[in-house]
Amino acid sequence: MKTEDQVDRLTSGEAQSTDNVLDLTLRPQSLEEFIGQNKIKDSLHIFMEAARRRSEPVEHVLLYGPPGLGKTTLAHIIAKQMGVNIKVTSGPAIEKAGDLAAILTNLEEGDILFVDEIHRLNKLIEEVLYPAMEDYALDIIIGKGPSARTLRLDLPRFTILGATTRYNLLSSPLRDRFGATYHLTYYNKEDIKKIITRSAMILKIEIDSGAAELLAERSRLTPRVANRLLKRVRDYAQVKGDGIISHALAHEALQMMEIDGAGLDAVDRRIMEIIVEKFKGGPVGLSSIAAATGEETGTVEEIYEPYLMQLGLLMRTPRGRMITENGYKHLGLKPPDDLQQRLM
Ligand code: ADP
Repeated sequence: MKTEDQVDRLTSGEAQSTDNVLDLTLRPQSLEEFIGQNKIKDSLHIFMEAARRRSEPVEHVLLYGPPGLGKTTLAHIIAKQMGVNIKVTSGPAIEKAGDLAAILTNLEEGDILFVDEIHRLNKLIEEVLYPAMEDYALDIIIGKGPSARTLRLDLPRFTILGATTRYNLLSSPLRDRFGATYHLTYYNKEDIKKIITRSAMILKIEIDSGAAELLAERSRLTPRVANRLLKRVRDYAQVKGDGIISHALAHEALQMMEIDGAGLDAVDRRIMEIIVEKFKGGPVGLSSIAAATGEETGTVEEIYEPYLMQLGLLMRTPRGRMITENGYKHLGLKPPDDLQQRLM
């Protein structure tokens, strides 16, 4: 469950209700249009080409990484480039083995089944998925008790594209059934700037290079956040200016949205401040941070921490989370004298 706070959070990489149209309009349609993540693109290109030459469906692919980095986009690109249908579902949406059976038996040869949040698949359903992934077969149990018997149904050869933000929550038998695993990491600033410039062109927004750079700096190195900030700053420019996004105007808009120089918003800063104020900067356990901030442990771990760690403001140590020297500096505070000892 999301809190009200998160639903409106501008800097969250997670999709929000208002993102649907924006996501669809701005979603790259081919690997060539997909900016950054070059290693993944090169490898996917070979992976798809090899399958095409063998006239086989692509092997099952697992995509993992923080929200908003392009997992869904890549899944659609793979389907498009392979010329096959894509059906979209998610781990929590498949409640019963029968739901999965219905989806699988409706697939056609070569089709792609995109399973978002695949780490949330229930274990019983995972067991049904194993033979489906491995042998394209579905084992159905008919009847109960001593007269129960298993019926094996053949499935068309299909491809599962699994996406997850939590690789470590995936069981190892499930991980092993993917022919390729790709780890999407945060983009660099130059690539985010290119994404902003591309999106501005599609949306017919006038933005100068300095403003695009400023937005790139504050977009948490995440394409979805970059697109969302661009749209919000455009709204601001239309109301407060002449619609053109200049550096000065972008700066003003970001200030109004309380997004600071590192792309942190009020919630990120509150998490860091609470660790400093209530837990002397750490080490402190994840559940204590979650309780003190009123956020879910999963949200803190998946959404906030990865970016704070990426910036080197927060560290995970075996004894818990700690604010780093840079973290103190970012909050405008003096690091404690014994910080180095505590980090050991
Ligand atoms: P995820 O599935 O990882 O949460 P999405 O694939 O839905 O992320 O990406 C969110 C949005 O960000 C997409 O709609 C697209 O507009 C944009 N996006 C993601 N990756 C890229 C990229 N490499 N180049 C351009 N735009 C991108």
